[in-house]
Amino acid sequence: MKLANQLQGIAPSATLGITSYANEMRASGIDIVDLAAGEPDFESPYQAKHDAIQAIEEGFTKYTNTSGIIPLKATIAEKLIYENNLKYVNDEIIVSCGAKHSLFNLMQVLLNPGDEVLIPSPYWLTYPDQVRLHGGVPVFIPTNEQTGFKMTATQLTQFITPRTKALIINSPSNPTGAVYDQTTLEAIADFAITHDLLVISDEIYEHFLYDGRTHCSIASLGPKIKARTIVINGISKTFAMTGWRIGYAAGPKPIISAMVTIQSQSTSNPSSIAQKAAIGALREGRDFYTRMVKEFSERRAMGHAQLTAIPRVSCLEPEGAFYLFPNISELIGTRLANKSMTSASQIATYLLHEAHVAIVPGNPFGSPSHLRVSYATSREKVKGGLERVHLALQKLQTVAS
Ligand code: PMP
Ligand code: GLU
Repeated sequence: MKLANQLQGIAPSATLGITSYANEMRASGIDIVDLAAGEPDFESPYQAKHDAIQAIEEGFTKYTNTSGIIPLKATIAEKLIYENNLKYVNDEIIVSCGAKHSLFNLMQVLLNPGDEVLIPSPYWLTYPDQVRLHGGVPVFIPTNEQTGFKMTATQLTQFITPRTKALIINSPSNPTGAVYDQTTLEAIADFAITHDLLVISDEIYEHFLYDGRTHCSIASLGPKIKARTIVINGISKTFAMTGWRIGYAAGPKPIISAMVTIQSQSTSNPSSIAQKAAIGALREGRDFYTRMVKEFSERRAMGHAQLTAIPRVSCLEPEGAFYLFPNISELIGTRLANKSMTSASQIATYLLHEAHVAIVPGNPFGSPSHLRVSYATSREKVKGGLERVHLALQKLQTVAS
């Protein structure tokens, strides 16, 4: 059977794939430490669970408005004012089945074949595939440890063409943890305005910030940039609610209403029950995520110290999100017995089978010389998992020529 051409070059999400593979290994009795999953190990907030149960009991179990119930959109609008200094009205907000779904709707309404989207690399692996699925062309902006994994407005000049349609900013970043400061964002905003670009600002990790850093939404830097920015966010990370599937987008009305049209012809509304839970979570607010981020900050420090103690591994201290992104370029080309480690993918496979630690290789994030280690899991698991990684990588080194 011949499937649609648009599937060519599209891979299933590696982050989800490795996590389910690790789950299968665990189910077969293997003691796997999962440092792959990008989801907080905290329980979802009490209020969210309570409100969901109440919704079921009260029969709030039917279709809702496609773009989300008004009380949820009002709560999101309040959050955007209070936390991000951004004012949006009801018609400028859409609630979807996760931020990934909001992004998918957005790509559908923005891209024509050949439209180019600027994506700082390393990137969250879903961006380029969603661009390709909609006929667009991802254009990667290289960043590395020397630039703190951040792009600059000056650098963007080299990549702009008459086909450039949009620019993605993901701060704090998955997988690098980079957090953009206001001055850099101001320069990027000026660039977007001058070159008539749309900006897709994925702010899903906005509260996962360390060492006193603060989050700035590029859309808050003035009416001109707000008018060309679509803010993407959700409750998966902030409220440890990955399975509930609630995300949202806020932006100019014509774009949001086109996204509602697409959503009305695909999924319809997100789950009525999860929408009620999302109101509960957003109202519980700051207390919940402050406690979680404090714990993550400890794990980050511990994991970073463990990784940098491994010979031939270096690791920039992440500024935000909940991933460590060690550079393992010096291990590429090493051998174990007759096996040569030619990329991060091979090293991640080796760690999975030999050390029983699941880690995502940098390859699908656009960097074959890094690994992505999630510390959204217990301290014991981070500690124990990285001890195993240390021993396994040391073995590699001892047999390297
Ligand atoms: N953006 C980034 C950068 C992510 O890492 C994720 C991971 N889940 C998402 C968006 C999507 O989150 P969700 O669909 O669970 O809201
Ligand atoms: N975003 C998370 C991650 O990067 C969850 C998996 C996914 O949605 O791809 O691990």
